[in-house]
Amino acid sequence: MLSTMQDEPLSLATLLKYASTFQGESTVSTWTGSGVRTMTYREMGAEAARLANALRGFGIGVGDRVGTFMWNNNEHMVAYIAVPAMGAVLHALNIRLFPEQLVYVANHAEDQVVIVDGSLVPMFAQYLPNLKTVRHVIVANGDASTLQAPEGVQVHSYTELLAAQPDTFDFPVIDERSAAAMCYTSGTTGDPKGVVYSHRSNWLHAMQVCSPMGMGFTGSDNVLAIVPLFHANAWGLPYAALMSGANVLMPDRFLQPGPLLEMMADQLPTFAAAVPTIWGGVLAGLAAKPQDISHLRTAVVGGSAVPPSMMRAFQEQHGVRILHAWGMTETSPLGSVAHPPAGVTGEEEWEYRYTQGRFPASVQARLVGDDGAVVPNDGESLGELEVRGPWITASYYSPDGGVIDPDKFDDGWLRTGDVGKISPNGYLTLVDRSKDVIKSGGEWISSVDLENAVIGHPSVAEAAVIGVPDEKWDERPLVAVVLAEGAEAKAEELRDFLADKFAKWQLPERWTFIAEVPKTSVGKFDKKRLRAQYADGDLTVTTLS
Ligand code: ADP
Repeated sequence: MLSTMQDEPLSLATLLKYASTFQGESTVSTWTGSGVRTMTYREMGAEAARLANALRGFGIGVGDRVGTFMWNNNEHMVAYIAVPAMGAVLHALNIRLFPEQLVYVANHAEDQVVIVDGSLVPMFAQYLPNLKTVRHVIVANGDASTLQAPEGVQVHSYTELLAAQPDTFDFPVIDERSAAAMCYTSGTTGDPKGVVYSHRSNWLHAMQVCSPMGMGFTGSDNVLAIVPLFHANAWGLPYAALMSGANVLMPDRFLQPGPLLEMMADQLPTFAAAVPTIWGGVLAGLAAKPQDISHLRTAVVGGSAVPPSMMRAFQEQHGVRILHAWGMTETSPLGSVAHPPAGVTGEEEWEYRYTQGRFPASVQARLVGDDGAVVPNDGESLGELEVRGPWITASYYSPDGGVIDPDKFDDGWLRTGDVGKISPNGYLTLVDRSKDVIKSGGEWISSVDLENAVIGHPSVAEAAVIGVPDEKWDERPLVAVVLAEGAEAKAEELRDFLADKFAKWQLPERWTFIAEVPKTSVGKFDKKRLRAQYADGDLTVTTLS
């Protein structure tokens, strides 16, 4: 028996229409360094139509890829919704990728048009001659005439191009399973791999972000999107904002703690999202120059494990709730969110909030042991996390239909490469990435646990732990420490600080003090580079007896 329900496709064109009419007074604003430039969702709807008309004029149709090479700003938000709404596929390029990776992903995705931010033109100009499929470049917020076009490529000014377009567009009705957007993994542990989101997956994911079990957006929120729109589907923020009518605040290129805090003081966002390294910087900025940031009801933090000391500092010193979440480019990215269960208080509540969180009904999760068998969710047994669901990728994008990295998939489940445990009531605690876990004498040491503990020392600003070869134990931890401004601490003192938190054999003897932990293109600790620095003898290591 079939239902009597209408079969309305979940489409980002419908979302655009809804946001620009029923939520037409909501706004997206971009920080200029001293104020904001603001557009209403209604104006955004008209600009999206103009952009869609311009792209159609270039011959862009259903399924064609349109890249962006931009900061988080109003124009990027317009592209984020206009491109999929017209049936084309948005590909937000990571502006911080290494040149060869950037060229690789743009060619791999076969981007035909790229919208480039004026301030990024000098960087983009170096790549353009190697982008084989790009035919049009649109320069927003800057002077298009500064970009030298190779043969076969036309360069346009965003403003002039759009001024000549009608502000309505007949957005097509397309299959909800069609591609809407694509994103490449940031390559923290390997080459970038492409994930293609559908209208349906983005819609369902946006509903989850809006739900109280997700991030709980409402029309009263002012959402500060620090996470770049090119990182992991922008954590779902743009579509969830359009769905809920939340205002969006974009930091553009002002991403250092000082300018971020100035923007917050001026714009009073209620919600913000970024990786832990950004929040570490904000915390240090607040220590240097105190400011009330209690207008933030929640800051969602993920991408890497959030140190408990950071969560507590935000709550206890600044009245800001850090919401810990886990996800991946491959999972749209919302996987689990650490809302504590009802009725818990005090330290017990904190213990829940430190975890990577609980899965929503749409994300099925299981742990698989080394022998391939599923391990129980008993809060103790460790295994690799595998997930499946309507916004989890089933494969990596391959232009010729070949299979990329089949090992990442296990009988319909995505293998995350993350190792952890799940409690009987469904809370995930990640121990490490399987590639980062330290195998010492046949036992595991979690690099993340060590990092979280070391960063709890008041003299430490950042700490990254890698496994290094050891004759006796195969591998031992090396702790790379960045001391807080003006602080002093010796390796012995830091090891003593860990003594009551770890078994004796887990305590690291190798320590190095560095000026900065190398970061990936999305601001995570780049352990690949740290390992290379160690292998090249570039780190001065103190070995305690
Ligand atoms: P990349 O794999 O290139 O870093 P992603 O940004 O998609 O690209 O990263 C996903 C990975 O980030 C996860 O598999 C996990 O290892 C890590 N991660 C994400 N959120 C968390 C979290 N809350 N705690 C620990 N690790 C996390």
